[in-house]
Parts: sequence; C-alpha cells; structure tokens
Amino acid sequence: MLLNNLIIADSGRKVNIRVSDGIIADVCLADNVGAANNSPLEKGREGESNGRGVLTRRKEHTEDLQINFTDAIVFPGLINSHDHLDFNLFPQLGGRKYNNYTEWGEYIHKEHKDEIAEVLKVPQALRSQWGMYKNLLCGVTTVVNHGSGSDITDKLITIFDDKHDLHSVGFDKQWKLRLNNPLKRKLPVVIHAGEGTDAAAGNEIDVLIRGNKLRRKVIAVHGVAMQPRQALKFDALIWCPESNYFLLDETAKVDKLKLYTQLLFGTDSTLTGHWDIWQHIKLAHKTGLLNNQELYRALTRNAAEAWGLNSGELLPNKDADIVVAKMNDDTAPDNAFFSLAPADILLVTHKGQVRVADESIYPQIKDKLTAGYSKVKIGNSYKYVQGDVGGLITAIQTYWPQVSFPISVQAHE
Ligand SMILES: [Zn+2]
Repeated sequence: MLLNNLIIADSGRKVNIRVSDGIIADVCLADNVGAANNSPLEKGREGESNGRGVLTRRKEHTEDLQINFTDAIVFPGLINSHDHLDFNLFPQLGGRKYNNYTEWGEYIHKEHKDEIAEVLKVPQALRSQWGMYKNLLCGVTTVVNHGSGSDITDKLITIFDDKHDLHSVGFDKQWKLRLNNPLKRKLPVVIHAGEGTDAAAGNEIDVLIRGNKLRRKVIAVHGVAMQPRQALKFDALIWCPESNYFLLDETAKVDKLKLYTQLLFGTDSTLTGHWDIWQHIKLAHKTGLLNNQELYRALTRNAAEAWGLNSGELLPNKDADIVVAKMNDDTAPDNAFFSLAPADILLVTHKGQVRVADESIYPQIKDKLTAGYSKVKIGNSYKYVQGDVGGLITAIQTYWPQVSFPISVQAHE
C-alpha cells in the first residue's frame, strides 16, 4: 500500500508512506514525486544510527493499493492509555463537583442506580465492542483498557493487555496483596491514584508508594493530587483532563509533573467524558499545561515507549498504525492536528489493514479490500468502517432500546 502526498502532523514534512506486510516499509519525501527518485527520510531519532531506517534508492515498483491525498496530514495511530471499554454506553453521570472519586462513586451508585442497571443489562462483550469502535472512529489504534478486553472477539485495534490492573487503593480492598504478588512482578501495574483534590487523595498516593514492597513498575492514572516528589516514584502518569474537570473541576499539575515522570494521555470512559477523544485533546491543548509536542507525544511516541509497543512513530519497521486526516487549519500542521474531529478522518490503518476510510477515498480502494465494511455517518461525513457496526447497534438495542449513539449506520451495496 502506498499513501501519497501527506504532511506529517508534527514536523510538517511532505511524504509518501509505503506499507508492506503490516509495517511501515518506508517514508520518503514527496517533493520529487516519482517513486525511484524519492529521498530517504525519518531515519530514526537523532543520534541513532542503527541503520534500520536508512534507505537507498529503490527501483520503481508497482503497488497493489495506492491512495493519493490532497491537503491531508498524517500521524501515528493514537494511543489511548486509559479507558474502560465496557463503560462507554454510559452517559456522563454525577455532574457536580466532588472532593474525590470515592465521593463521586457513592453519589452515582445512589442517585443513578436505575440508569446504571439499565446500561448493565447489555452484555459486557457488546459494550466493550462499542468501546472499541468509539476509539477506532477517532483514529485510536491502541487502547490500554482497564480490564482484560478479552471479551472482544473481532479486535480491529490493539487492546493492550500486558499489564496488571488494580482499581485503586480506595476501591480495591486487596490492593496491597495484589500489588505484591510475586507472580505478577514482571508486569507493569496500572492503578487509579490521587483522583481527588483533598488530603485523602494526596495521602493515598503515599500509601501506594509505601505499599509497593517489590518496587514494581507502576503507572498511575489521574494523579490530580500528585506532587513532584511522588511523581518520581511512578514510571508514568496517565493524564485524563476531561474526566478530572468533570469530577473535580481541577486536573493534574502536568506542567510540573512532566519534569519528574513520563506523561501519557487517556480518555477514561463516557461515564466521565465525551466519546470523542478529540474533545479531550482540545481541552488539554487549551490548558496550555503541555506544549504541542509534549501533548502529541503523550498520545503517540511516549505511550508506545511506556507500554513497549512497536508503534507511535512514522518510521520504517514500525507497525503501520497510521491516521490520515483533512488539513482544516493551514496555518501549521500541528494546529491542524489540534483542530481535528472524527468527521475529518480520511483513513485509519491498523497493522497495515484499512479499518476506516472516508467516502472520498473509498472508491480508490474498495476493489482491493477483502474485509466487510459498514457505512457510517459521523457529523456530515460518511465513513466505511470494518465490521458489522449496524449489527452491533441492533444487538445492543435488543437489551436497551433507548440507547443512543453518536453515529448512524447507512445502507450500502
Ligand atoms: Zn478509569
């Protein structure tokens, strides 16, 4: 597959990308179009000379699938480092300010008991399947699901599972025993920590640090109450700004914490945030707590490093998890990135497989695709999405007829 005439979202370079066997085969400057004459590019990071990205002039070759774009940016498939896939049919619940997540949890279980019961009538596997599509439709190609994700049968994105989930010090009575389980010591621990603005939330982080007797690699989620001295003890912090503002009207001090730990980005579920990760990204961007590059990397390269994924960068030999989107804002490619919405997405590939294609490019590729696709309306745009999205929605409706979705499925031949 050859993707032509794309502008890399963070560097602004104009490139053609060749994908082969699920990986990025090469990334070449697109200025002198003519395949044999392309310049090598993206040779790996500065200071690296491992040779894996170094390209020589190639002989002209034919590609079975070629897509030509105009005014389009490209970036690595996003990595959503925190979600609960099976909680994405919930509406946002508990809209007022709380001091910490325990208060919020008690409130929603009391005040929204019936609504919660109604959603939970839908079998977990169907709820998780929708959670996967929620991410894919926005250009997320990896989700670190808090939970196993093993109930999803047709995985169209990477559901990362090489970690050990603990809920939190407050909600998991066995947390210390589980944290110090020697059989799990090789896996990174993911745990909600410091999700509050009161003293209890700050103390909880110290209790967690002291309880980590095996000095396991711990990745914290939220960290609203986290101080720099505490951040030092974590391998990474997953920033979930929208969820934090919704619950606490405050978020983690990531402008300070970024000096002490690696920052990743997460949406959490629709219980506390919008279904569309771009809304979360725009909110994060507006805070100014991270600069453009830091925020971009929290969603891509840094997350890939923290989880040990072979993705997150547009470099030769990386997994071909690629997103192409319309360049709506032509002032700078990174401004275009931060102004995106799901309707702007033109193409999503996961390990080189086309998962989402906008109707404007679908005619170029439809004869080459082997999987089945659904036609889905998002905003004013139509996308072809792999799998039976209509069937999924119908199945969910049999358990919960009043359910509403941010997309609608269209008939197509
Ligand atoms: Zn969570």
